[in-house]
Amino acid sequence: MHRLLALAAIAVVVPVMTLSAQQVPTIPFPPADSTRPQPPVVTPGPAGAPVPAPSDAIVLFDGKDLSQWRSDSGKPAGWTVRDGYMEVKPGAGTIQTAQGFGSVQLHIEWASPTPPEGESQERGNSGVYLMGLYEVQVLDSYDNPTYADGAAASLFGQYPPLVNASRKPGEWQTYDIVFDAPTFKSNGSLERPAVVTVFHNGVLVQDHVVLTGPTAYLERPPYKAHADKLPLMLQDHGHKVRYRDVWVRRLDG
Ligand code: MG
Repeated sequence: MHRLLALAAIAVVVPVMTLSAQQVPTIPFPPADSTRPQPPVVTPGPAGAPVPAPSDAIVLFDGKDLSQWRSDSGKPAGWTVRDGYMEVKPGAGTIQTAQGFGSVQLHIEWASPTPPEGESQERGNSGVYLMGLYEVQVLDSYDNPTYADGAAASLFGQYPPLVNASRKPGEWQTYDIVFDAPTFKSNGSLERPAVVTVFHNGVLVQDHVVLTGPTAYLERPPYKAHADKLPLMLQDHGHKVRYRDVWVRRLDG
């Protein structure tokens, strides 16, 4: 009884917590640490037809053209479009949306090259960069060991996926991402860090993780103030990864 009363008192006294800059976590492994535990393999359900966009979504790729996309120099996007998908054209560079986005629900489908070539980070590497800064890794992680925080559906360099729900190369895979954009105070300091949830092939793989800052290789740089809407970017890592059925819903009005 005493304990219940104490709990009730706590429930009354503790204010509703909101994420603050103080809550940017410290990750107890360095980036790309090969000793970090590997995500267990989970076999997802079979690949299906593209997931239709809901009525309030902005369709960013409907299989026909790259009119919603630009090269990183602002020219027309140079990736290949055929048979309802777009494919990385190695050397053409990253592509980014003409529109900027902040907090979003994003649906995107992708397929790794088949037959697979290369290993670890050199097999089917690409990436979905939220706001052009925060990468959800795209990699052929089917029977392809790599460091845990670089696997498919990792938040690259920060968080491995909870499980490895990869399908075989050549099969269509889905990411459903909920991204809460970071916010900054007027003096440029961090007000609230970015928070990401990801489903890979329908399986929860990132559960409200708090990003430490923008994606980088072998380091975790701190946040730097940026606009509240920025283009979504897809990475050219030199591998012919395919994408289709890309749509977003704005979560910030
Ligand atoms: Mg990548």
